[in-house]
Order: sequence, then structure tokens, then C-alpha cells
Amino acid sequence: MKHRWAFRLLGLFIAALWVSGVPAEEKVLNLYSARHYQTDEALYSEFTQRTGITIRRIEGKEDELLERIRNEGANSPADVLLTVDAARLSAAHEMGLFAPVKSAVLERRIPAHLRTGDWFSFSMRARVIIYAKGAVRPEELRTYADLADPRLRGKVCSRSASHPYNLSLLASIIAHEGEARAEQWARGVVANLARSPRGGDTDQIRAVSAGECAVALANTYYLARMMRSEKAEDRKVIERIAVVWPDQQGNGAHVNVSGGGVLKTAPHREAAVKFLEYLASDEAQRYFADGNNEWPVVAGVKVANPALEALGKFKADSLPVGSLGTYRAKAQIIFDRVGYR
Ligand code: FE
Repeated sequence: MKHRWAFRLLGLFIAALWVSGVPAEEKVLNLYSARHYQTDEALYSEFTQRTGITIRRIEGKEDELLERIRNEGANSPADVLLTVDAARLSAAHEMGLFAPVKSAVLERRIPAHLRTGDWFSFSMRARVIIYAKGAVRPEELRTYADLADPRLRGKVCSRSASHPYNLSLLASIIAHEGEARAEQWARGVVANLARSPRGGDTDQIRAVSAGECAVALANTYYLARMMRSEKAEDRKVIERIAVVWPDQQGNGAHVNVSGGGVLKTAPHREAAVKFLEYLASDEAQRYFADGNNEWPVVAGVKVANPALEALGKFKADSLPVGSLGTYRAKAQIIFDRVGYR
């Protein structure tokens, strides 16, 4: 008698294992991410709560992740690649890493110019001009073209021209105005440099504030981060600078994106598409905005970020994101040719 009960229990136990074991195997998503923002934790755990899908995350530097996925080849466990910069996403596309995704949700939520057939933008950051208050007359600084004006000789600080943020900006100038004008612009900016390019965007903001130069470019999320900082020194830095939304009468401010796609070799394709769709949800869009100071790509999402609010409304360039990749190589050649390192 005792044995029979034991067998029954064992049977139930095995059945339970089998039932929980099968879906458990599918409820995983391998995410390769070059986003390195602490606030993204909440973004991922919300997805797991909603779907029961556990995210196994591998973080790495942008270009290293691309290489890694390529080297892993058909055996890559990667389902989704998330990274920053449109030109880099285009590079992943050109390397043949992404699989096409057809999703009514993504098509409905993400504006057409912010997606391609296989990768999608989920947040935006604008490249704005900052200047030291009092050092430049605001009416002299309305466009990216003004950065190349001889008026600013010796007054411009810059991060390396090879950085994707600058390459994508020049790519947008090539797309709008052609190579010759783009080269002229790059030449003008080099001539205006106050020092050889170094540091990141935050360093340029600090340098402008400290009076080492009068003008620089920076992505808005670095600015917003400092505006919201608890550190008194950061707020002092911000007090001394002003922000210009470039090209508001023309093409609009250059925007870059963070985005991602499903990998061709994804072992969990269904979960991967679900994850991309989740990133376009109102909640996820709010995480990008409130957590990392980026603008949502989905229209009408209500955000509660005092820094984004303070930066105000602006006209964004509506160039298709894919075209930034198209001109990235040309942008690098032009920067090299004019000696913008
Ligand atoms: Fe960045």
C-alpha cells in the first residue's frame, strides 16, 4: 500500500516537472546590450513580470558586441541586440546579423522614419549646441553651420570626430547637403577648434562651463543628467551654459537613436519579437524618458522628466534613420581628409 502512494506521488512529481520544464525552457531571452544605464534594470524586470520570460543579459561595448555575435556565428545564443547610434545599427544590418521582423505593433507604434525592415529605434537623443553664457551672442548660433563660421575661431570644443555621435551628425549633413558642403563644414569646424578633440560629451559641457572654450556639441541625455544631478558642482556647470536647438528653421535638430533588432540566429525568436514590442509600450517608453533622459519614439507618451521639460519642444530632423548608416563611411573619410581626428 505504502508503495502505491509513493509511486503516485512520484508520478505527480514527474508530471509537474514535465509541465513546468517545457515552457521554462522557452521562457528565456538572451539579450546582448550595449546600453549601460543603471535605470535599464527596471525596464527589464518589468518585461519579466509581464511575460514570465527571464532576461539573460550580456553587456559589452558596442563594437565588441557586434564582433562577438559575428564570431559566435550560427551558435550564437543572442536573441536581441540593443545598442546606441543609428550608424552602428546599420552596421549590424550590413553584417547580416539581423533577421527581418514583421510586427503590426512595431509598425503602428514607431514612426516609419525611425525603423527599418530589421531594426527599430526605441528612444531618441538630440545633438544640440551648448555655449557659455555671455561668450557668444545667441543670434550668432542657430545652426550647425554656425559652428564652422570664422567668428568662432579658436572657440569650439569637440569630442573625437570618429565617435559615432559625430559621424552620424556629419552623415546627416551629407544626406541633406551633399558631400562637398559637408566637407566644407567639417573643415570650418576643425579651423575653429580651441584644442584637439578629447573626452566625451560631458567633458565638452564641463569645458564650455569652465571657459576653456565657448561652444560645443552634446547629446541631450548627458545635459539632462547633469541638470537632474544632486551634485552642486554639476548644477553650477549647467548654470553657466545655454542650450541651442539647431536648425529649427531648416531640417531640425539632428537626432540619434538607441535601438535594436532580432538576430538571425536567435534561439528564442518569439520571445525576442515580444521584447521589441514591449520596448515600444507606453511603460517601456517612459523608462527611457524618465530613467535615462531620452525622448520616446512613440507619439503621445506622457513623460515626467523635469529636465526634458526644461529643454522644451523642438523640431527634430526626420531623416530616415537608415540613411545615417549609408553615409557613415563617407563621413569618416571626410573627417580624415580635413584632419578632424
Ligand atoms: Fe552616450
